[in-house]
Amino acid sequence: MSERFFITTQPAGDRAVLEGDEARHLTRVLRAKVGDTVSLFDGRGREWPARVASLGRDRVELDTTEPTVDPVPVAIPLTLAVALPKGDRQKWMVEKLTELGAARLVPLETTRGVAEATASAQARLERVVIEACKQCGRNTLMEIAAGRPLERLLAEVPAGACVVIAHPGGRSLDVAAIPTTATEIIALVGPEGGFTDEELGTADRAGVIRISLGPHILRVETAAIALAARLVG
Ligand code: SAH
Repeated sequence: MSERFFITTQPAGDRAVLEGDEARHLTRVLRAKVGDTVSLFDGRGREWPARVASLGRDRVELDTTEPTVDPVPVAIPLTLAVALPKGDRQKWMVEKLTELGAARLVPLETTRGVAEATASAQARLERVVIEACKQCGRNTLMEIAAGRPLERLLAEVPAGACVVIAHPGGRSLDVAAIPTTATEIIALVGPEGGFTDEELGTADRAGVIRISLGPHILRVETAAIALAARLVG
């Protein structure tokens, strides 16, 4: 696979433009030359083969041909609603969830949560998603949704979605128990301090299925990745 670059502006005709970080990566880090070939992707499933046509300091123009379009996924999309861990563990989790193919990450606000789901955190994580997509060949970005409290998330669950909550000691995750007619799977992961009894009660009342991921207490990011590894079809 050739080097991949993320574009926010669709190519006009057969000409695409890279600006900002993506242009600097191509010119300064990779020291590209006119005529070099790369791939461009738009984060919405399209990928273009491209050839560098001109190089500026912060702007690169490329010639493109017809894009390839990702097939419509047949698997049930997975949303992970996670009480984010802090710092590097948060970034690492987002990188792995992107590689594994999770559709969406919702930062979950919980009583014992440690990391705030601010707009700047959201923007930082969106950059991690782009980097992971560049590296792993994924052409559709994992969405980083705005943070929200557990109660609101549960109140907004769309009809047809299947919701599970990971909590040590519940019954084991049985992928076969997820209805094949589900339109979406939403999996909830708590903070290092765990969900409170009140939060577990709220989830129970909303009909959320409690699941266990084995006999050990996993870090937040391990639990999220284990869920993605088992639930992305
Ligand atoms: N002391 C907490 C552990 C929190 S671990 C407690 O006993 O609840 C952080 C989160 O990861 C948990 O809230 C849960 O969502 C998930 N998790 C960790 N280990 C798990 C396991 N064995 N089974 C299911 N979920 C787990």
